[in-house]
Amino acid sequence: MIRSKRLQTALVHGEYRAPAGFSACPAPIQRASTVLFENVADLRERGNRWLDRSTYLYGLFGTPTTYELEARLAEIEGGSHCLLAPSGLAAIAMVDLALLGQGDDVLLPDNVYSPSRELGDWLTGKFGITARFYDPMADIAAQLRPNTRLVWAEAPGSVSMEVPDLDAICAAAHRHGALVALDNTWSAGLALRGFEHGADIVLQALTKYQSGSSDLMMGAVITRDPGLFRALGLAHLHLGYGVGVDDAYLILRSLPTLKMRFEAHDAGARAVAAWLKQRPEISQVLHPAFPDCPGHATWKRDFTGAGGLFSVLFDPAYPEAETDRFIDALRLFKLGYSWGGATSLCLPYRIQHMREGWDRPGQLVRFFIGLEDPRDLIADLDQALTGISRS
Ligand SMILES: *Cc1c(COP(=O)(O)O)cnc(C)c1O
Repeated sequence: MIRSKRLQTALVHGEYRAPAGFSACPAPIQRASTVLFENVADLRERGNRWLDRSTYLYGLFGTPTTYELEARLAEIEGGSHCLLAPSGLAAIAMVDLALLGQGDDVLLPDNVYSPSRELGDWLTGKFGITARFYDPMADIAAQLRPNTRLVWAEAPGSVSMEVPDLDAICAAAHRHGALVALDNTWSAGLALRGFEHGADIVLQALTKYQSGSSDLMMGAVITRDPGLFRALGLAHLHLGYGVGVDDAYLILRSLPTLKMRFEAHDAGARAVAAWLKQRPEISQVLHPAFPDCPGHATWKRDFTGAGGLFSVLFDPAYPEAETDRFIDALRLFKLGYSWGGATSLCLPYRIQHMREGWDRPGQLVRFFIGLEDPRDLIADLDQALTGISRS
């Protein structure tokens, strides 16, 4: 102890050390940029162990709080290693930048999360990578090229909700020596076991169900393969990805209710989708648990649940101005991007402009069913549908 600390030094260096033995249910929030070493030998020994979760090096690489979240997410997905990213899209970019180099080819489903598609196009224009798009319901074998290094899958695909045959995609990709990355956000890592169907990498936008409160952004990349973990970790290191420990704590706080919330969203969504299905204004319900949805049989084979996100196609007699009027008339359903929280959401999509060869008529509207009572949501939909008219 330095006895003669001046006041300003005492403001920086306290002597108090909390006694050992504190124990409580919540994981502690450990913040840090600087991580302290015992001595120079310790610094030199730990100095290049940035992927080693048994030690600490620098706040960017993790604190006990982020390590705990990584380990919990890896366990939930059935993986062994996890890296956190500042958003779901940042996690997607980490995978692309870790695995793709000049001259490589990447295949993405045509119904992929749109910003992932735009990232693929950007990589194509800027880095000499080719990003090509495949029909998620077709056999991909003919599409694979000798330089195809990575195949993305999304189950089901964003917005249009086709459920792909992940086993077939993984088998074809692996035969050609390509890796498969699955965006498993729709299933929250609960309803589809990505690794059991052959995925090499599973990705989660934690912004959605794991947050569960529409209040933070984060993504996770999970793998079982130590070599892939190292490749992903290098991209994570060079990109300087870090996440706020308060956000990591909020996700840890939400995890115990993840499955119950997912099941409540699922039950609510099925009730609302069943009600919409019998409405004359709706021509098709694109919900994987409903026979109308392309890939429904695959969903039944591979999934144990469905969650809260689905889309519908309106009868083509309702032009965009009328479906817009419907959305604007909703009171409980709010209008906004993202999903996974307690609040129900509704969004229009100009799907014809998003997909190559989309030929189904009718306006596409996507719903996220939150945690409200489904009877109130149905009443809200009923009053909003009553106000629109056929052209
Ligand atoms: C929301 C979402 C993402 C991106 O997550 P952000 O945290 O919003 O960047 C990626 N994939 C899917 C399927 C999503 O729904």
